[in-house]
This record gives sequence, structure tokens and C-alpha cells, in this order.
Amino acid sequence: MYGVVGVAIGSILPDIIDMLFAGGNNYIFSKIHRKLSHWWVIYVGLIYLSYKVYLFSEYINLAIYYVSIGAIVHIICDSLTISGVPLLNPFKQHFRIGLFRTGSTMEYVIVTIITTILFYKRFV
Ligand SMILES: [Zn+2]
Repeated sequence: MYGVVGVAIGSILPDIIDMLFAGGNNYIFSKIHRKLSHWWVIYVGLIYLSYKVYLFSEYINLAIYYVSIGAIVHIICDSLTISGVPLLNPFKQHFRIGLFRTGSTMEYVIVTIITTILFYKRFV
């Protein structure tokens, strides 16, 4: 259960970070969205850190681990869109699989298929 909560928080964290930094300003949001906060290297680094360095308590290490896993899942999902995510340069969205546009019908179809498969694998 602890892991599910951590992954759930991590799965929205990159967008939350962008919203907090933008402070409600849509222009700033459009300039910073899907840049540094969506750079996979940060979260892979945090996962490595959570394995290698004891951070005050094992729960903090586990929280960092699960939140980072959620953030990486978020970034992988964003990479499916046409907008893409940063790959090597954290300030450029270079990597995209480009299956759909954010908010399009295809996005909902693909998310529904993936979610259904995950639920099926979990409960059957
Ligand atoms: Zn995002």
C-alpha cells in the first residue's frame, strides 16, 4: 500500500512541480512545462541514491524510490505524446514516440487499454 501511494504521488509530481514554479501563470507554465521536471536522469539518480545512501530512515529511502518510479512512469507516458520529453538536454523536448496528442481521443483509448491490461494482470 505504501508503494502504491508513493507511485501515485510520483505519477503526478512532474506536472505539479511545473504548476508550482509557474505560480498560475500560463505563459511561464508553457515555457517550463516538460523540461527539467520531466528529465528522467533526475529520477534515475534519486532511485540510485535511495539504494546507496541511507537518508535518515528506510521509509524516506522507500518514499524517494516509489515517488521516483511514479515520476518515470509519468515521463514514459508523456513521451508517447507528440510534444515529447527531454532525453539528454533537460531544457529541450527531444524524445517522443508520438502516438497521440495530449487530451485527444487516442490518448484516452491508449490509457484505457494500458489501465485495463494492468488491472487484468493484477487481479486475474
Ligand atoms: Zn507531464
